[in-house]
Amino acid sequence: MPRNFNSVLGKGAPDKQEGDIIFYLQCGRCGEKIKLRISRKELQPEYDGESETGYLISKDIVGKQCPNLMRLTAQISSLYDITFQEVTGGRLISEREYRAGSE
Ligand SMILES: [Zn+2]
Repeated sequence: MPRNFNSVLGKGAPDKQEGDIIFYLQCGRCGEKIKLRISRKELQPEYDGESETGYLISKDIVGKQCPNLMRLTAQISSLYDITFQEVTGGRLISEREYRAGSE
């Protein structure tokens, strides 16, 4: 399997699994770590004039531990690389950070 993941984003970049795009978040209020899986079917195509340039993700997330609202905004290229990602109300963490401390 070719490993051509675009590492431009470095730390905090979600891993890419077949079919799904995964983000790891941490609640800015209580510190709860959350794994957010978004299937390609949920992606909303973004158009530049007539051609499809990629996809937009806009998702509200509430954890289990507190009512703090987090909002994820991300842009995915047509090749499913993440070109932009931002979280308000929390922060993006790496898969390693997500796993640390749990289990
Ligand atoms: Zn929380």
